Amino acid sequence: MNNKINAIRGMNDLLPNDSNLWLSLEKTIFDLLLAYGYKNIRTPIVEKTETFHRAIGKVTDIVEKEMYTWADSNGDLLSLRPENTAGVVRCMIEHNLPREGIQKVFYQGAMFRHERPQKGRYRQFHQIGAEVFGADTAKCDAELIAITHSLWQNLGLKNVQLEINTLGSTEARANYRGILVEYFMQHKDQLDEDSTRRLKTNPLRILDSKNNDMQALIESAPKLMDHLDEASTQHFETFKTYLDCLDIPYVINARLVRGLDYYNRTVFEWTTTDLGAQGTICAGGRYDGLVEQMGGNGCPAVGFALGLERLILLIQTQGLSIGKTTESIYIVALGDAAQLKSIQISRQLHQALPGIILYNDISMGSFKSQFKKANKAGADFAIILGEEEINNNQVSIKPLKGQGEQQTMSLDDAIQYFKG
Ligand code: ATP
Ligand code: MG
Repeated sequence: MNNKINAIRGMNDLLPNDSNLWLSLEKTIFDLLLAYGYKNIRTPIVEKTETFHRAIGKVTDIVEKEMYTWADSNGDLLSLRPENTAGVVRCMIEHNLPREGIQKVFYQGAMFRHERPQKGRYRQFHQIGAEVFGADTAKCDAELIAITHSLWQNLGLKNVQLEINTLGSTEARANYRGILVEYFMQHKDQLDEDSTRRLKTNPLRILDSKNNDMQALIESAPKLMDHLDEASTQHFETFKTYLDCLDIPYVINARLVRGLDYYNRTVFEWTTTDLGAQGTICAGGRYDGLVEQMGGNGCPAVGFALGLERLILLIQTQGLSIGKTTESIYIVALGDAAQLKSIQISRQLHQALPGIILYNDISMGSFKSQFKKANKAGADFAIILGEEEINNNQVSIKPLKGQGEQQTMSLDDAIQYFKG
């Protein structure tokens, strides 16, 4: 038979050999966010398409090209979430949460974008993100930077750089948009196809173009920074003061406009040169107008999202090991009585030694083949239950990684042995 089914291109399985790294990474991030007072939130993977149209904007790459959208049987247009800020905002409004005071929340999960799959870019990928509702201060923006910066330190990551920019107020940006369009119109013959289209739909995105032929033109374009409103300038100055006070280096990247429409004021990205073109591992910014735009009462907000696949790639590229290694034991048992005893002992060991990894043999093979399996599992110790051990109500402990001699003792003594 040759009719096996494969996964969809750009949507990956997480296999047992890789999953411990994922779990350790996720735990490190969750623990840090919890320590900073953030609470977990979970929203559906599918939302009404309208949710994303209203939040992300119709003339963005995501909505124009990357969303998985279909009509439900009742005709509703639905989409797989391409990001989760829209869903979180929808949830905040629906449950009236900002009315109860400042909300600090984080989410995790799969996002879907129909892009060309390549290293660090997939059609199903995973993010952990944090959002704060109800605080408009630069201090709040800086705390998000402090958290992500601590995370890189906790993971031992090297070669990550913070890029920041400000997009000003909606009015200042609209005003600047006019100035930018005028500039690009004067150089219309130098625009590529994509940019010509964006000139009408989303001119700020032209600044983000990766086309080499357009770099000089973009370099000389008027800068948003020079057309900011007073309050946004002040916000940006305060933000930088907080970063200085935290000793976090940054570069100001005037071309950082982000792909989504909803941002204002602070925007930032953490980037690395170790991952080629997919170098952004974390991105975020302020979106003070979005809650109102989506039908809620006006409420300032700011957040970021981390791309887990890219973080994993970076951890692997830099050869870092994360997460503590737990001792593991393989229980080798021979004979019916020993098999029964082993399942009892296994339960007792799990209770007495929380967190220890126990492989209780289920192959029922010979001693020799069970030891082979113990080694293959990478177990640190074997607990042996043979005829003699059963008769004397004892167990034998055999270190498998050269940590001493085999010893025979009672189960209580064995527990003490492993408690060390
Ligand atoms: P890029 O410019 O790389 O396309 P983006 O601006 O579209 O990124 P965001 O929408 O800001 O990305 O998402 C936040 C983070 O999620 C990114 O910085 C990245 O780490 C990750 N990410 C985004 N798209 C993908 C994808 N298709 N595959 C894997 N990770 C992704
Ligand atoms: Mg993208």
